[in-house]
Amino acid sequence: SAAILYDNVKKRYDTESESILAIEDISLSVDQGEFISVVGPSGCGKSTLLHLAAGIFDPTDGRVEINGVDVQSDDHQKNSVGLVFQSPVLLDWRTVYDNIMLPVTVMSENGVLERDEEYYRERASDLLSMTGLEEFADAYPQELSGGMQQRVTICQSLVYDPDVLLMDEPFGALDALTKDKMNAELLRIWNETNKTILFITHDLEEAVFLSDRVVVLSPRPASILDVIDVDLPRP
Ligand code: ADP
Ligand code: ADP
Repeated sequence: SAAILYDNVKKRYDTESESILAIEDISLSVDQGEFISVVGPSGCGKSTLLHLAAGIFDPTDGRVEINGVDVQSDDHQKNSVGLVFQSPVLLDWRTVYDNIMLPVTVMSENGVLERDEEYYRERASDLLSMTGLEEFADAYPQELSGGMQQRVTICQSLVYDPDVLLMDEPFGALDALTKDKMNAELLRIWNETNKTILFITHDLEEAVFLSDRVVVLSPRPASILDVIDVDLPRP
């Protein structure tokens, strides 16, 4: 089955003062292991699309599935998706290593860990070396640069081995040079781990550099204007 499936999805936000149609009607199937980007103007509904895949809220109409399971159903495994936001969300009183292990700690407390903790500890160490952060395992987030903090967040989202990685402009707050380095790094991780990645950006050039396919959204309410197959050699 598809890694991510949007089936005639519509999303309306109803607040006390207004009703905003964010997503008009989107159908999209993302293959296992695919790197797909979503681009579109600010406020068009990109984050909404990603939050729907994360199961943060219900679509107003239609269905969203991860690995063939409706994200709203009881069978859906929340740990099959990893989320990365624009700003790193790290606890500044915990070390880099403990921040990376945080989802594992939480899942362990909730009794939903799939393997023993040793597996995840090894995985955290692997991720630290994969992202060049091994020397910083015992450092605190505020001792690191913005780029390094975002790498810690990426390690955190990968530590419990999700099948699908949902990234919302993860490098949007970084300077251009750091952003290029992080994009190269992300491709390396993607190559090594074979995750399905849904990557949101407002930068078409970045999307083309990274992805197998680029989905272009219309201004709000979002609908799909175009899907571009990128056929470029990988760096
Ligand atoms: P993008 O990520 O493309 O900038 P968003 O998905 O964040 O777009 O937002 C799409 C539209 O939905 C915007 O008009 C935004 O103001 C509105 N919106 C987003 N989240 C909410 C919410 N929780 N409640 C009400 N309106 C929202
Ligand atoms: P990035 O490597 O994410 O682009 P910078 O360009 O700010 O981040 O950092 C360049 C290099 O400087 C890093 O790869 C790291 O080796 C070193 N560095 C950055 N911040 C620190 C720090 N707080 N302590 C020690 N070394 C650091």
